[in-house]
Amino acid sequence: MTARILVVDDVEPNVRLLEAKLTLEYYEVLTATDGPTALEVASRERPDLILLDVMMPGMDGFETCRRLKAIPELRHVPVVLVTALDGREDRIRGLEAGADDFVTKPIDDLVLMARVRSLTRLKAIVDELHDREESSRRLGVDADAAGRLRATGGRVLIVDHSERQAAKMLERLSEEHRPAIESDPAVALEAAKGGLDLMIVNLQAAEFDGLRLIAQARSTEAARRTPVLAVVDPIDRPRMVKALELGANDILMRPVDVEELQARARTLIRRKRYADFLRQKLDYSLEMAVTDALTGLHNRRYMAGQLQALVGRAAQGGETVSILVLDIDHFKAVNDGFGHDAGDEVLREFAVRVATNVRAVDLPCRMGGEEFVVVMPGAPIEAAVRVADRIRRDVAEVPFRVLDGEAALDVTVSIGVATVAGPDDTPEALLKRADDGVYEAKARGRDQVVARAA
Ligand code: GH3
Ligand code: MG
Ligand code: MG
Repeated sequence: MTARILVVDDVEPNVRLLEAKLTLEYYEVLTATDGPTALEVASRERPDLILLDVMMPGMDGFETCRRLKAIPELRHVPVVLVTALDGREDRIRGLEAGADDFVTKPIDDLVLMARVRSLTRLKAIVDELHDREESSRRLGVDADAAGRLRATGGRVLIVDHSERQAAKMLERLSEEHRPAIESDPAVALEAAKGGLDLMIVNLQAAEFDGLRLIAQARSTEAARRTPVLAVVDPIDRPRMVKALELGANDILMRPVDVEELQARARTLIRRKRYADFLRQKLDYSLEMAVTDALTGLHNRRYMAGQLQALVGRAAQGGETVSILVLDIDHFKAVNDGFGHDAGDEVLREFAVRVATNVRAVDLPCRMGGEEFVVVMPGAPIEAAVRVADRIRRDVAEVPFRVLDGEAALDVTVSIGVATVAGPDDTPEALLKRADDGVYEAKARGRDQVVARAA
């Protein structure tokens, strides 16, 4: 995966050095030597990651970071601050300015590449979610503001054997989250499956293999999205890099600085909730866009799209398509006699009987009210009529139990059948012919199937 990285540093040789290193790893590199230029380039080029020096004359790295994060289109572009080795204060200020991560000067190539890889991967996921959110909005589903998401009250699990270190983290995190301590990695994995906002893993514990826990969490569907903050010794570089490669989202050095812990926890939890939010909204909106809420069948909109494609293919000489239009007889009498809720129950049970009498490739849909459609790819008219008659009998033969089984209603249905006829046929014409079939079935006394030729 290639990504575009903006390198910002007021010292030209630093810029060139980073540019050379990143280019070697096949990243595309943009550069700027001051804050205002960085803002301008970022707005124009929309990079996937920004490496930002803290110490710059004029607009420093913190201010640049704050301004970058205030631009809505750039808010989700990760910013990595480049700080001095002993820049503890800088790191905390940086995280508070909205930076996603930092690396210290002199820059360790291994650590830098691991972080860049991990952050650009995350950015790619968020981009993908955004794209899909865009398309769901186009389907007519309104999107809520993600900005209101809280970064507090998180369920945090500290997986650690060192009681002192764990207690210190627990105390600080308790100020704004709901942390707990667990020393058994198997129990921790189960907890992650149950839904955690953050898991903090001590990789230096002799009693268990923290790297293994990270790998397990990443390979378990239910735990995959739990952010992991790995706690490591600064000198243990191989372990640090391994942790990031296995999918740890962030690294915290020992001895643990509680200020930094708090800032990183906040960032990770906010990011997790943001991703959850998008995903959830997406699932819901996509489902609402294609599903009928009462019966769970496909809705008219979905049916229309599918039918359009299938009829188009059939008209060009592809396999044929038949449709059934089903209209429940005297349905108004159900509502009038037993109430609207009983009517809804009949509709749901009717949907079940239709769906269980068609093939897996058929598309049963609710058009609205008490009218349903089944789209049957590849079915010639005789096959469609057979299926229609099977549905008709299944509906008529077994009474519908409603109101907790207190009433058993006799229900019948009238069904019209039509099949694509020739290259000039259209979905509208096809539906119209099947509708005419329904009309005729009603006129003949209902509880019948009528096929209409073109
Ligand atoms: P016909 O045999 O000629 O089809 O008569 P019908 O009574 O089935 O047809 P009509 O179109 O006159 O009435 C349909 C009724 O379906 C009227 C409407 O109140 C009811 N209906 C539409 N949607 C729903 C729904 O979601 N739930 C319930 N319970 N009733 C609905
Ligand atoms: Mg009806
Ligand atoms: Mg009707």
